[in-house]
Amino acid sequence: MAVDLQSSSAFAIAQRRFDAAADVLGLSDNTRRLLREVKRELTVHFPVHHDDGSVRLYTGYRVQHNINRGPAKGGIRYSPDVTLDLVKALAMLMTWKCSVVGIPYGGAKGGVIVDPAALSNHELEHLTRRYATEIALLIGPEKDIPAPDLGTTPQVMAWIMDTVSMHAGHSVTASVTGKPTDVGGSEGRQEAAGRGVTYLTLEALKYLHVGEETPTVAVQGFGQVGSSTARLLREAGLRVVAVSDSRGGVHNPKGLDLAALEEHRKFRGCVSGFKKADDIAGAELLELPVTVLVPAATEQQITERNADRVRARLITEAANAAISPDADSILHERGVFLVPDILANAGGVVVSYFEWVQDLQAFFWEEEEINTKLHHVITRAFYEVLHASVNKRIDMRIAAYVLAVQRVANATTVRGIYP
Ligand code: NAD
Repeated sequence: MAVDLQSSSAFAIAQRRFDAAADVLGLSDNTRRLLREVKRELTVHFPVHHDDGSVRLYTGYRVQHNINRGPAKGGIRYSPDVTLDLVKALAMLMTWKCSVVGIPYGGAKGGVIVDPAALSNHELEHLTRRYATEIALLIGPEKDIPAPDLGTTPQVMAWIMDTVSMHAGHSVTASVTGKPTDVGGSEGRQEAAGRGVTYLTLEALKYLHVGEETPTVAVQGFGQVGSSTARLLREAGLRVVAVSDSRGGVHNPKGLDLAALEEHRKFRGCVSGFKKADDIAGAELLELPVTVLVPAATEQQITERNADRVRARLITEAANAAISPDADSILHERGVFLVPDILANAGGVVVSYFEWVQDLQAFFWEEEEINTKLHHVITRAFYEVLHASVNKRIDMRIAAYVLAVQRVANATTVRGIYP
């Protein structure tokens, strides 16, 4: 489900969260004005030849929110729900995400209004190459490095890298991340976001001194992030009792057999109807009495309408903007501990950063080394956010924003942009 643009736009929500952090920091009006806007927004319209001989016009975007700490970084989304407003919001989120985990990037996002499932492979490749050509003036290893997001894949990244390389006359592997390993992709990138969610969930449980012998978990969304999170948390000894996708959920209080469920999903195309569990409605999953809830689907899933019915002790917000600002306050008052999105799902961009570094130095690391480095970066960020939260008596979301915004503001000041 897309963000409800009627009540408040995605970008307005992103600015509202920024304003809360700017208030805590007492940011100057000049810095505040600069950071609450995006730096560049490009809209492109381009034709694509379809297999039936028709030519259709598509619209895409690339937005850079801020580049004061380094080149812009952010995914490309293919979805009918893409709007410029949403892309601006997600670009801003990327600035804070890169900053909170301390990697030297600014924030960007891109998108094309298209349902990729409705295109043939040939049409998808043609669309991708045209879009990449249109945004080529903005992207590149030193300027802006795209990655996959909803609706885009390692194959799409390989086509973008090839298009940029054809224009340059040589292979520019560092121009995108999330590529297949055959063309400079990194080991561990596919499940990096889920691995980061897992490390942070385990760290938060340690901090909370959760007494249960086997903490229980519900995961909303069984895609790339949700399914790897479920599997890795299960491997860490937690009991995954419920998962869902866009068609509904399944629940077994004794724990789900995830390998069998994966087989079932491949066969049926969804998790519902799994015979070793009960079917539940998607909304019901969010209200189960579990230790950990992981929303790993899409935006605005926990709002003021259902936040008071959430019974989890901990929420690791794997999906971007899964929780609305009003729900934040309700959950905080009810004592639900939150690992907010810009920290929770940063594992993806951290390993993207490792991929870019490996491409630039043309020297590749083993997966074990990548996972160890990811653990170090993400755990350090968790404790920095936690300390800010405890010391300043602010919730984890605002604490993450305060740290992230402070670093970008410092870079802005020290560069003399707004002294
Ligand atoms: P995906 O497309 O692989 O999976 C999304 C899953 O959510 C699917 O199972 C889909 O059926 C399900 N879903 C959609 N709407 C739902 C609903 N209303 N209720 C329940 N399930 C629903 O996407 P993904 O890559 O796993 O990304 C999930 C979220 O994580 C997105 O917000 C994305 O921006 C964010 N994220 C992903 C990465 C990454 O590396 N993949 C990195 C950072 C953040």
